[in-house]
Amino acid sequence: MRTLLLDNTFLPVKIVAWEKAMLLFLTGRAEVIEEYSDLQIRSPRQTFNLPKILRLFSRNRSRQEVKFNRYNVFLRDNFTCQYCEKRFLQRELTIDHVWPRSKGGKSDWENVVTSCSTCNHKKGNKLPNEFHLKLKRKPVRPKWTPRLNLKPKDDDPDEWNNWIA
Ligand SMILES: [Zn+2]
Repeated sequence: MRTLLLDNTFLPVKIVAWEKAMLLFLTGRAEVIEEYSDLQIRSPRQTFNLPKILRLFSRNRSRQEVKFNRYNVFLRDNFTCQYCEKRFLQRELTIDHVWPRSKGGKSDWENVVTSCSTCNHKKGNKLPNEFHLKLKRKPVRPKWTPRLNLKPKDDDPDEWNNWIA
């Protein structure tokens, strides 16, 4: 079971294992907003329902940068090929290096875009100015947003969507 952590302003911070959430609660660093009514743990003296949503008393200091990885590049680009502007399923998408890797292009937010395999194949190792399809937007490092860092799984509680969306 997992717990959604909010900061003191009710912004989502991250999703943690319930053990970590209980520790934050029992050490007085957070309060329970919602709990799993059917899941309990017992200490010798008390019974606690596992927290579903926990609010930290402090500001969110763990607001990290968005991690650079394939999935987050797809999310930034809204699962849309940046050349033909069509939306695809994740498995149909590839990562394109705008300045080709074979010519020294880096793997970073500013040089990597979402591309469907057809466009990526057509582009091959061409430089941006040698390729007839133009990028729709300049790739940038995304700002931190909860959507990019919080990925609920199917068995996580539906209530979380009220906070994450
Ligand atoms: Zn495409």
